[in-house]
Amino acid sequence: MPGRILVVDDVATNRLILKAKLAAAYYDVLEADCGQSAFDRARKEQPDVILLDIMMPDMDGYTVCEMLKACPETSHIPVVMVTASGAPKERIKGLSVGADDYLVKPINDMALFARVRNLLRVKMMFDELKLRDSTSRELGLTDFLETIEEGAGKSETVMLAPAADSQGDVWKDAISKMPNVDVIGSCSEREALNMARFEMPDAIIVQQSIMQEGDSLRLISALRARPETRQAVIIYVVADGAIETAAKALDLGASDYLMEPFEPEEMIIRLRTQLRRKRYSDQLRSNVRDGLKMAVIDPLTGLYNRRYATQHMQKIVERAQESGKDFAVMMMDLDKFKRINDTEGHDAGDMVLKEFSRRIQENVRGVDLVARMGGEEFLVVMPDAGAMTAKHVSERLRRAVECNPFVTADGVELNITVSIGVSIGTEKDDDPGKLVKCADLALYEAKANGRNLVSFHEAA
Ligand code: GH3
Ligand code: MG
Ligand code: MG
Repeated sequence: MPGRILVVDDVATNRLILKAKLAAAYYDVLEADCGQSAFDRARKEQPDVILLDIMMPDMDGYTVCEMLKACPETSHIPVVMVTASGAPKERIKGLSVGADDYLVKPINDMALFARVRNLLRVKMMFDELKLRDSTSRELGLTDFLETIEEGAGKSETVMLAPAADSQGDVWKDAISKMPNVDVIGSCSEREALNMARFEMPDAIIVQQSIMQEGDSLRLISALRARPETRQAVIIYVVADGAIETAAKALDLGASDYLMEPFEPEEMIIRLRTQLRRKRYSDQLRSNVRDGLKMAVIDPLTGLYNRRYATQHMQKIVERAQESGKDFAVMMMDLDKFKRINDTEGHDAGDMVLKEFSRRIQENVRGVDLVARMGGEEFLVVMPDAGAMTAKHVSERLRRAVECNPFVTADGVELNITVSIGVSIGTEKDDDPGKLVKCADLALYEAKANGRNLVSFHEAA
């Protein structure tokens, strides 16, 4: 996994050492020798990770980190504080200003690389999600973004899988004080997996020496593999000095780790950071999903749009070639629809379109494709349906519109009719566009012959 890393340190030797290590692992390394230049380079060159020294002459690392996190151009770049002091107070201070981790000099290579890999993976996931989200936006597919604030909206569930003799209760007390957070406990590896499946926690805190001789690393990898917990935060608590195990956990997909001993406050800060990140990525993911949905769904009627119909018809054509079975293509167009808009208003027109869509869906099978091709033109494609079936169904559709009036919000009853043109595709057809055109020609004929009619294309 390639990545660009910005190394910030006022001492040239320190930069050289880090640069040599990182370059040997094929990372692309940028350097800055003071706080201001770190901020400038980060904005201009958009590194993937920043390794930030704390003690520097112009401004300290905490201030730089705050600036980076406050600036929209750099707030998404992960920051790792690198410092000579490992005092819990300093560590908590670094994490509170938004740093993702805190490494103590001399830097342990394994801790460094495992963390860099973890942060690069997270950042790539975010970059990809943001790219898709922005594409949806540019296409005009997503025109809303609710921001979910911490503590607002639904509550979050944190599951604890602590060791038997651990501080599980202390953690539980501390986490319970977070706003809108529910804490649930489990113990054995198997119990944790079962509970996670049903409770679908937002975050899971797993301790290295999990109860009843389970394997905590195996638990992490199982949680990551399961759909219910794939996106959950996983924080791993390792014994003092167990950096190798912590590195393994990060590579298996843990979001973060804590090494004992630590203050409960540090756990809370890390948990809060991870939950915030998860809320944001959940949001992006759902925007992308909505965006994708809107790319193929007509918002007024909820039917598929032309883009989807065109794609999907290609598949129906291919399937017919394999099965040798005919399929029916129907183009429908409401009669004198413009008059409804003119006399009853646009809202009444919209209501008719929606009600018409509903009636179509009520009268076709689940496998049939129903799409709004634009305006008051609709398409139905029925796989595995020959001329006889098509005749039967199209007549039924025509009657379903004619037989009952459409009622506006004001209680006005409107008599609506529809004209339908039908063409039949066979295994020899390979061009869906041509079949739609044939159905269209038949539709014109139905209009010309007086409307409220079904007309078949001559070949059918
Ligand atoms: P014909 O029987 O020949 O099909 O006549 P028509 O009036 O239905 O056909 P025409 O194509 O002239 O008019 C279609 C009208 O459909 C024009 C347009 O204002 C209206 N229309 C298209 N999309 C919408 C929509 O989303 N909502 C509403 N209310 N009206 C729409
Ligand atoms: Mg019309
Ligand atoms: Mg029309």
